[in-house]
Amino acid sequence: MCMRAKSWTCNFPNGIFPRQDHQTLGIRIFGADFCFIILEQESMQLIDGKAVAARFKDQIAAEVQELKASNGKTPHLVAILVGTNGASETYVAHKVKACGELGFKSTLVRFDETVTEAELLDKVREINEDDDMDGLIVQLPLPAHINPDRVMETIHPAKDVDGFHPINIGRMAKGLPAYISATPQGCLMLLEHYGIETAGKHCVVVGRSQIVGLPMSILMQRNTYPGNCTVTITHSKTKNLAEICRQADILVGALGRPEFITADMVKEGAVVLDVGLERVPDATKKSGFSLKGDVKFDEVAPKTSFITPVPGGVGQMTIISLMQNTLLAAKGEIYQK
Ligand code: NAP
Repeated sequence: MCMRAKSWTCNFPNGIFPRQDHQTLGIRIFGADFCFIILEQESMQLIDGKAVAARFKDQIAAEVQELKASNGKTPHLVAILVGTNGASETYVAHKVKACGELGFKSTLVRFDETVTEAELLDKVREINEDDDMDGLIVQLPLPAHINPDRVMETIHPAKDVDGFHPINIGRMAKGLPAYISATPQGCLMLLEHYGIETAGKHCVVVGRSQIVGLPMSILMQRNTYPGNCTVTITHSKTKNLAEICRQADILVGALGRPEFITADMVKEGAVVLDVGLERVPDATKKSGFSLKGDVKFDEVAPKTSFITPVPGGVGQMTIISLMQNTLLAAKGEIYQK
């Protein structure tokens, strides 16, 4: 529970009575009037990514049906998976499942860990040319012998529904229509859904990766809502990280270090978005692991005004944004078909 002083009222009992949901302190002054400090008890609100995602799912599924009915087009997402990384398998499986649930067509292309970069790029070019395939994602990370930047740059910008192509990143930075990286876009959708004020706030992003931290920092400074923040982007070489985090009105954890952000790094009443999603060994779980975010939830949550849990927070929205981007691709709304 976080308590913030909201206002003073004086001259009770003739004046204002405190609201029942306010905690009050009474002070006798000169033996006559009472002066009340009203402390408003503002509870932390859990940002329920699952519930928000469910609403968007219904909306997207309805739009898919409309598109099918109006011009017979079924949005088609292609995912390329290289190797057998457990986490990547799970992420791709979730994306394929979402396609089925929302009425999209999906194709999963698998390559062995030993695939050459040239073979992978050939496949990407082939998909670029296929008019039925609207969106293409290549699940990261890729094996060390494949340059991910070269792969991302080979995906046609109009099919780059992950928003990783330099053209989409550049267009996003300029505020032009673009596919926006799914995870930061999901964070924005949550801020918007909960009506969280962002203008003039200090947003601190921990992590500067090209897929999360960097786009998140660009989006949060744009002259729009959600946005108009003063943004600080931090990374592994940042000095005084805890001190900088404590200045955040909106703190985004995107570093991939389980439970790294502790209560002493968070300001009272801050909004905390936890992007981190790491598998941590857990003998009590059938799977042998549990999922942890970058934020030490139990100790941080009571200090916050809003916080995303892990799982059930940002991750849920990442898939929704990807589906939304694929729908835009099928409709040719960002790049004309
Ligand atoms: P990444 O490419 O490894 O980047 C991590 C960033 O964090 C880097 O910029 C790194 O700094 C910074 N960092 C690492 N240790 C740090 C420290 N001690 N202090 C400050 N900064 C530090 O990771 P990513 O792909 O952005 O992913 C980050 C996390 O988000 C991961 O847990 C990932 O699984 C998760 N994720 C979740 C979703 C979702 O849907 N929920 C989607 C994508 C990613 P340097 O640049 O200096 O190395």
